[in-house]
Amino acid sequence: MAGPGSAPSESDWAGLATAVSGRVLRPGDTGFGPASTPFNERFAATTPAGVVTVADTADIRRAVQWARSVGIGAVARSGGHSYAGNCVSTGLVIDLSRLNTVTADGSTGLVTAAGGATMADIYAAIQPHEMAYALGNGSSVGIAGLTLGGGCGATSRVHGLTADALVETTVLTADGELLRCDATENADLFWACRGGGGGNFGINTSFTFQAQPVSDCSTYLLLFDRADAEKVFTVAQQVVRSAPDEFAARTGISTTGSGAMVSVIGQHLGPAAELREILDPLLSVAGPRRADIDDRTYWEAKDDLLHDTAGGSFAARTSILTEPLPDAGIEVMLAMVDKWPGSGNPDGAGAALFSWGGAVNRVGVSETAFPHRDTMFLLALDTSWLATDPASAVERNLGWLAELGEALAPFGTGRSYLNFTDPDLESWRTAYHSVNYARLVETKLRHDPNRFFTFTQGIGT
Ligand SMILES: Cc1cc2nc3c(=O)[nH]c(=O)nc-3n(C[C@H](O)[C@H](O)[C@H](O)COP(=O)(O)OP(=O)(O)OC[C@H]3O[C@@H](n4cnc5c(N)ncnc54)[C@H](O)[C@@H]3O)c2cc1C
Repeated sequence: MAGPGSAPSESDWAGLATAVSGRVLRPGDTGFGPASTPFNERFAATTPAGVVTVADTADIRRAVQWARSVGIGAVARSGGHSYAGNCVSTGLVIDLSRLNTVTADGSTGLVTAAGGATMADIYAAIQPHEMAYALGNGSSVGIAGLTLGGGCGATSRVHGLTADALVETTVLTADGELLRCDATENADLFWACRGGGGGNFGINTSFTFQAQPVSDCSTYLLLFDRADAEKVFTVAQQVVRSAPDEFAARTGISTTGSGAMVSVIGQHLGPAAELREILDPLLSVAGPRRADIDDRTYWEAKDDLLHDTAGGSFAARTSILTEPLPDAGIEVMLAMVDKWPGSGNPDGAGAALFSWGGAVNRVGVSETAFPHRDTMFLLALDTSWLATDPASAVERNLGWLAELGEALAPFGTGRSYLNFTDPDLESWRTAYHSVNYARLVETKLRHDPNRFFTFTQGIGT
């Protein structure tokens, strides 16, 4: 058997394959590529020593025990959508994707998802009961990463974060203990699991949420020319400020290199007639090129707002804003988007303001591990490229993103959203976790004193 620092032997790997009911894949095995490649192909070159696709909780425990005994690290993978590729490492990947059962009880509103469930699995279970809570807008995003890092959706101003809806979770620790966590039992771990970040404290095998009844609503898609961008960003922010919590907006500018497009997209938990009134200042400030404002069922709205992406490689930087982005900030942002260096990825690059606040801000800063309870907008900046782009193009894209982030830093709080993880962010401890960082480190050391679960930007590193 390998000791710490040396690679596990072939017989160690054979031992793992025999010990688990699930499947173990090594580099070169059929299916290893899809099992080991993260959604963000920026990190596709990280090759795990092996991937164990677990069949049940007992497999997770055996995999953790095996990794500890042979002296290699292990990371959990659920949806695989970490922006920073944190679901892969050069050690063992514990893939929970087969643990995707979701049960929903229409009489209590309780929804229990296994640790590897995706948005698609959850929506399929809750739709028949006409109930929901804030969820992500990508169907293959995992509930584990989403919840553990906060989780914000179009209904968050009414429903709060995904983490705010969490009422219980079960965590398998590095010692192999299975801990039930809620507001009274293992309350420290429960607190940390509500926004402290995936991959830090153990492997969550299940999540139970309190869902709310839903009703019909309306959605909108407004497209404007680049020439109207200043006016649109200014007025869209005013609209959000005076709108009820039922209204949500993502105001963005995107470019693929051949001209930029401005969009305001969102949802209103009310009828289209009411939505049209809310949007009126925006519709009259500039003639939109396209304006779709429609009554929808809650489930049609969810499909309308699905985030479609070409995939490939991407990077993002975020800034928590407690005030609207002023004209000077809008000007800098638009000028920088016009200077995007280009890449082969059809997703291009851009900047967007997501309306936050409402119910998200009605929770105390340290009531859960998620600290950004004073946010008006999340400013998200992103760029993308393909594996076929030359290294110089990747460098130019990352340089452009860093420059854009620095140019807009004076308008923000210095804080960032953990789930749009930026592996290049040096100030990540305070930026992601703010005043809650010290308590997160204490919780980490209480439950994982040997720091078995570790990664770049992991708690306590
Ligand atoms: C296309 C797309 C759409 C998105 N939409 C939204 C959105 O609408 N709202 C939003 O807030 N965010 C959104 N995100 C960001 C998303 O919340 C994060 O990327 C999140 O970390 C993804 O979780 P995952 O389980 O898919 O990822 P993974 O990469 O599998 O995991 C993320 C982290 O959690 C750890 N982890 C995974 N499973 C477990 C587990 N069971 N127990 C403990 N730790 C675990 C991993 O080791 C890793 O550190 C989106 C991302 C993408 C790529």
